[in-house]
Amino acid sequence: MLYLDHNATTFIEPKVKELMLDLMEGGLNPSSVHAQGRFAKKIIENARIKVARGVGIDLISREYEIVFTASGTESNNLLLRNYYDGDIFIASIEHPSVFNHLRYAPSIKEIKVDSNGILDLEDLERLLFNSSSQKRLISVMMANNESGVIQNIKAIGNLAKKYNAKLHSDAVQAFGKIPVNVEELGLDYCTISGHKIGAGYGASCLIYKSNNNLSPLLIGGGQEKNLRSGTENVLAISCFGLACDIVTSEIDTRYTKMKRLRDILESRLVKYDQVDVVSKNVVRLPNTTLLTIKNTNAQDKLIAFDLRGVQVSSGSACSSGKVAKSNTLQAMGIDELDARSAIRVSTSYSQTEKDIDTFLKVFREIYKL
Ligand code: PLP
Repeated sequence: MLYLDHNATTFIEPKVKELMLDLMEGGLNPSSVHAQGRFAKKIIENARIKVARGVGIDLISREYEIVFTASGTESNNLLLRNYYDGDIFIASIEHPSVFNHLRYAPSIKEIKVDSNGILDLEDLERLLFNSSSQKRLISVMMANNESGVIQNIKAIGNLAKKYNAKLHSDAVQAFGKIPVNVEELGLDYCTISGHKIGAGYGASCLIYKSNNNLSPLLIGGGQEKNLRSGTENVLAISCFGLACDIVTSEIDTRYTKMKRLRDILESRLVKYDQVDVVSKNVVRLPNTTLLTIKNTNAQDKLIAFDLRGVQVSSGSACSSGKVAKSNTLQAMGIDELDARSAIRVSTSYSQTEKDIDTFLKVFREIYKL
């Protein structure tokens, strides 16, 4: 099996697996006052420190705080719901956990992107200029899950400051692949998710500036400073903390390794006239290659890849195996037929050149190149 779908989810880090087994016995409720409960509380607070370190914030200064949730989707929802009564500006290429709020809060404004998927700053400024609300949130993802395109968050932050808007970045795909420093980027809010960095499932977080008062989505026992009620998933949160430590300490070597493989892959593909690498000339994640292949249909090809033991994804399918039209590719002005042909290859740091060779062999076979 050759798994090349690490943007969908990635393998659990070996050290995380060990920790998971250690904690599996359970009996860990951080709200309990007995020794086991206090132990559970300590585990959660240690994880919070590790996550904070991973995103370049210092919890002691209390400028930022971290609330643990169950998924990146939940973190994004927690935040966006808090701004429904204000003006929200989102990029037209956002992940559905941000983008689909358009269905429920039609007043949300979409910010245009160019043909490479880079945010149009002039369009954002125009939207901010025309906003009459005193409560404004800009939400722009750090890196796109389909194309890997990385946004200039600092430039967006300058506009946010100018128009007194809060800035959120969904860094679910970026974190673990490129350095993410919330404070340096001047973010008010940031989302990261455990299962994308080898932490296993069930833990994610929203990082937020302490002076921004948020209301919870879940009401109950008041866990997580009243922002996320429900008994904490100690096991998942602990694994999330450890995975943050691991990816943060290895980010440079992993980046270099992944980028080298991505460049090898792309240099071998561009020689085929019918193959194009989406957004090839802009800064992208080191592990992501989105390909369009003239006159082909990704859904048929995905099955052909799968039958040969190679797991990739189509540019458009995001959830529950369904083929949805990709708002990302549409926003970038990619022709409908090309969009339907898009195949995403997303590698991990543990991949080798041999894996790239295997992929290329299968690719040539399937596309008869
Ligand atoms: N944001 C981005 C950019 C993503 O790629 C994903 C998942 O693919 C999410 C948010 C949702 O994260 P989760 O799967 O933890 O809900």
